[in-house]
Amino acid sequence: MAEANRVAAGRVVIVGAGWAGLAAALELSEIRPASEIWLYERRSHPGGRAFSFTHPTTGWRLDNGQHVLLGCCTEFVAALRQIGQEDAVRFQPLLSVPVYASGAWQTLKSRRLPGPLHLLQSLMGYGHLSPAERARALWAALAVLTGSTERIDGQSFASWLAEHGQSTRAIERLWDLIGVAVLNGSSDKVSAGLAVQALRTGVVSGWRAARLGYFACPLSDLAEAAVRVLRSRGVHVHLGEAIERVELERGAVVGVRTKAGERVAAQTVIAAVPHDVLPRLLIHDLARSSELHGLASVPWSPIVNVYLLYDRPVMTGEVAAWAGQTAPFVFNRGRLLGTTEWDGRLLAASISAAGSLLGQSRQQLVRQVDQQVRQMFPEAGAARLLQAVCVWQTQATFLAEPGIRQYRFPCQGLVPGLLVAGDWTDTGWPACLEGAVRSGRTAARLAVNSRCIQEKAYNV
Ligand SMILES: Cc1cc2nc3c(=O)[nH]c(=O)nc-3n(C[C@H](O)[C@H](O)[C@H](O)COP(=O)(O)OP(=O)(O)OC[C@H]3O[C@@H](n4cnc5c(N)ncnc54)[C@H](O)[C@@H]3O)c2cc1C
Repeated sequence: MAEANRVAAGRVVIVGAGWAGLAAALELSEIRPASEIWLYERRSHPGGRAFSFTHPTTGWRLDNGQHVLLGCCTEFVAALRQIGQEDAVRFQPLLSVPVYASGAWQTLKSRRLPGPLHLLQSLMGYGHLSPAERARALWAALAVLTGSTERIDGQSFASWLAEHGQSTRAIERLWDLIGVAVLNGSSDKVSAGLAVQALRTGVVSGWRAARLGYFACPLSDLAEAAVRVLRSRGVHVHLGEAIERVELERGAVVGVRTKAGERVAAQTVIAAVPHDVLPRLLIHDLARSSELHGLASVPWSPIVNVYLLYDRPVMTGEVAAWAGQTAPFVFNRGRLLGTTEWDGRLLAASISAAGSLLGQSRQQLVRQVDQQVRQMFPEAGAARLLQAVCVWQTQATFLAEPGIRQYRFPCQGLVPGLLVAGDWTDTGWPACLEGAVRSGRTAARLAVNSRCIQEKAYNV
């Protein structure tokens, strides 16, 4: 019995093998004996909301959605380094995104200068806005760099932009173009605090942070590589095994119960699950917690990706944007994956905050995106669309509505022995891979500290 207690006393159970859970397990297994770490994932594959699958009719290996990083995503890259996969992401030397509007192209690009100077020249020459709109955009960009984001959390980003003199056109052609991709919500729907924080960290602060990073392989390859590393270290990885609930005794964590009914004793549980799953794991014990009920009601925001294969190359660059259109960002998926055969032919049109398109048929959506591609790229004029696939993710990210801060729980403090991780937690980042990894690593470090304290008590 004493031996069983000793084992449980050292055990950390991690629930969820998305990037928050994987990062927690990777970090913890570098600091503590891996045999004490148990990772449970409901699905048969790791990676959570960043995964790949083989499409049944085309046979294509597709991601659930085009994912990109920014140069500021340093902890995600550090996690890739831990699994020997840092070459799987290639960063642009400098931010460069061609933007189409009213029949003309303009490029948003950085220069190798400190922020916000790195964007100054590009912003001042951005012909999709009038000279007065550009000057006001510069003023707003400077305001992004200063001031408390906490104070404006309850305000919508659209009202903040209006206060800072931004016209409807500037919002569409500049702020929402970037903001919707980063926050998965339009400026009228998202918190000004989070939007300003995200733009400060990722876009305005400097040229390194603002570079786009592309994945050179399917996303699942990376999550599977992480699981291989964890298993080789001795971490117990259980795929396809869901956790029913976190078990508490006298208000503290004592373990988890699996859906299959097995009870697994643990000293610490890291719940690295989506925001609306956490309350379900705890709600039996904390039924009266209004915070958890509030968290469960934070809405999801969908993303849809339309993959298009043409009979000839139609796109020459890696990425192109068209503000205010059905698909604001189009990626040259063939090029990004390094396939010469599909370079310029296989495109991924990424549509964030896609709720308004939910009622459309697959044919309507494909037709719209195909027409858009033909308008953007003259090479597509005579090309034949061979195949198209729409990949919907209705629960892509939480919607960061004004006032979202109250639901972004810190890693620790809910229940003794319970740590929470995930893109929705109090990371200061929008819902993204970087935020997920940061939260997982924080949880791992806290698990080590709380473990040490409780071990001392145990030894006494
Ligand atoms: C289409 C799309 C495009 C995106 N684009 C980008 C992008 O370009 N850049 C970017 O940085 N981010 C992007 N994101 C967001 C990014 O994918 C997520 O923020 C990130 O993957 C979240 O990781 P997570 O570990 O916090 O949560 P999740 O990935 O959701 O992981 C949680 C895990 O917990 C598991 N789980 C749930 N319940 C249980 C249970 N009871 N027992 C055991 N396991 C359980 C789930 O199956 C899941 O695997 C995108 C997301 C989508 C869907």
